[in-house]
Amino acid sequence: MDDCVFCKIVKKEIPATVIYENEKILAFLDISPINFGHTLVIPKKHFPNIYETPDEELCAMTTVAKKIAQAIRDALVADGVNIAMNNNHAAGQLVFHSHLHVIPRFTNDGYEPWRSRKPYKENEAVSVAQKIKESLK
Ligand code: 5GP
Ligand code: ZN
Repeated sequence: MDDCVFCKIVKKEIPATVIYENEKILAFLDISPINFGHTLVIPKKHFPNIYETPDEELCAMTTVAKKIAQAIRDALVADGVNIAMNNNHAAGQLVFHSHLHVIPRFTNDGYEPWRSRKPYKENEAVSVAQKIKESLK
């Protein structure tokens, strides 16, 4: 993809602070981190989002994300880690090249990504679950 910023990073056409790579995967620091050490784990091949990323590539991304999470915990003395993937505009995706965010978390760091919640009314959970289960068949 000629106009994809992450493809340009893979091809070394633009610089990035790379912290890990293997045959399939590149991991580099996010240019605008939620906390220092915030890392992006991407497949070297271009896939726009989770729906179009082959399972084998997703597994490789997850394996590297775990490795980075452990390194962040040990090297940065992080108290926790969020692993996140935004898919499509509605979910906040800005770069349409599949990626996992590995975000170091520190007690009282002020980041509150899970704050907004919606309670189910009576029987709503059952009907939502039913729809999802039907679609899985
Ligand atoms: P998204 O919202 O698509 O899940 O996140 C894209 C991420 O890519 C953002 O956190 C943003 O800071 C990061 N990003 C965008 N452009 C660049 C870049 O040129 N270099 C690096 N290292 N990160 C980038
Ligand atoms: Zn790309």
